[in-house]
Amino acid sequence: MKWPAFSYARADSLDDLWRAKADLGPDSKVIAGGQSLLATLAFRLSQPSALIDITGIDALKGISDLGTSIRIGALTRHVELERSPLIRGKAPLLRQAAPLIAHAAIRNRGTIGGSLAFADPAAELPACMVALGATIVTASPAGERRIPAAAFFTGLFETALHDDEIIAAVEAPAETAATRTAIMELTRRTGDYAMAGLALRIALDGPVVAEARLVYFGVGSGPVLAAAAGACLQGAPLSAPAIARACAALQADLDPPGDLHGPPDMKRHLARVLTERALTGLIASQRAAA
Ligand code: FAD
Repeated sequence: MKWPAFSYARADSLDDLWRAKADLGPDSKVIAGGQSLLATLAFRLSQPSALIDITGIDALKGISDLGTSIRIGALTRHVELERSPLIRGKAPLLRQAAPLIAHAAIRNRGTIGGSLAFADPAAELPACMVALGATIVTASPAGERRIPAAAFFTGLFETALHDDEIIAAVEAPAETAATRTAIMELTRRTGDYAMAGLALRIALDGPVVAEARLVYFGVGSGPVLAAAAGACLQGAPLSAPAIARACAALQADLDPPGDLHGPPDMKRHLARVLTERALTGLIASQRAAA
């Protein structure tokens, strides 16, 4: 299908954007990489009267080192997450996640801000942000707001963003020698959205797991932080029995809807498979490093 008619404006600064939003009214939408928005227009899932192109706004660009955390501008493209040395060193989970997103052509244009604002329940980056305990930084004419990622994703394709706000950046804690991260997913074909996925971050105190954040995607209305499974891993070194207990606890943590990939039980099974693979992989890499 063709897109419905819309007018187009380009903002080259945040002030330009606030002026354009005021002029064009509440039916306007911002466009970043266009990789999700243009598809929703073609399917008539969304019919904004105007699109405001934010890709020229320098304040939304760049990846910076804040010492114990990194700030990633909303316009950072998936391909930049893949290639940035700063991301590789300080947020390796995002480096691992980026190649799992769609195909190279989409990663060349799609942005982190667009992915988080779109809030697809099967998307990788929202789950990574919850696993990392990242903060979403928003901007509006009234200034900035800082929202913990776990509170940002409020439902199916829904977020805590107010109508007058955009995502300006994300701030994620920098990884240290005492943290481990991993992401894994199961897809029918390379580049497809995940049937089920897991992003995890584990903080160690010596060999003991001090905190385990297991976040699943493709199995709920948004990223699902599995509190019961995480608790099974805490307070002891990672071990096969602890992993088995975490897998069993997922029964309480996950309540996946059936979808075109399969019924809820299949999704739970896939989540257990991912959990076992990811955590066993961490044990193996710890042994190799010892
Ligand atoms: P846009 O399409 O420009 O915008 C998406 C939405 O976000 C719009 O509502 C827009 O108004 C809003 N928005 C954009 N930027 C901001 C901002 N800074 N603040 C507030 N609102 C904003 N994604 C995955 O995660 N995993 C996949 O496997 C995957 N597969 C895909 C396969 C295909 C074939 C396609 C077409 C897309 C796929 N995507 C996938 C989506 C892709 O990652 C998109 O790039 C991403 O979801 C949206 O980023 P964007 O910059 O293109 O946003």
